[in-house]
Amino acid sequence: MYRSDILLSKYPFKLPPLQYPYDSLEPYIDEETVYYHHDKHFAGYVNNLNSVLKQYPRLQVYTLFDLLTRPIGLPYPEREMILRNAGGVYNHDEYFSKLAPAKSVNHAPGGRLLEMINNTFGSFDSFRQNFEKAAKDVFGSGWAMLCLTRQGSLRIVKLRNQDTVVKDGARPIVVFDVWEHGYYLKYKNDRASYISNLWNLVVFPSL
Ligand code: MN
Repeated sequence: MYRSDILLSKYPFKLPPLQYPYDSLEPYIDEETVYYHHDKHFAGYVNNLNSVLKQYPRLQVYTLFDLLTRPIGLPYPEREMILRNAGGVYNHDEYFSKLAPAKSVNHAPGGRLLEMINNTFGSFDSFRQNFEKAAKDVFGSGWAMLCLTRQGSLRIVKLRNQDTVVKDGARPIVVFDVWEHGYYLKYKNDRASYISNLWNLVVFPSL
């Protein structure tokens, strides 16, 4: 089963440093948005999660994966708060680590992944259309992801708020944050343009 480094980490959780300068995703995502999104919003999930767990030493032995997959052991009424923030930590790590400056790498899938995209969706263009529709259709705050399921197939998933695909054993492949904080400063209500511009920054993993 897929486990990223952050899923294996434990309290006190640390904010993963941004792997590129704040202004390096311009003109598709502006410097101010990247700064606030990473250093304020993402950091906020990390800090909030740590401050709840600070009160519960028995939960400090759990990895992020454990917290997201065994909610039954979490204390009520903090359960909701823990899951929401743990999900925010995990999802944002996936988002920022799967973006890179436009000119730094090739932003197209290749090899086995491209083969699977073609087999599943007919073509890359058709996948892109389906994915953009899903991302636009997320109502309110949430996420659109292309995931490799536990069974080994590709699936486009819409998530609300900070829900995750961790409990389903799926591995995120393409991750779009469609919360307004991810685009509103530059794009205002135009989520569709933010979504179509994100393809210039996406890093497709090799399978
Ligand atoms: Mn976000």
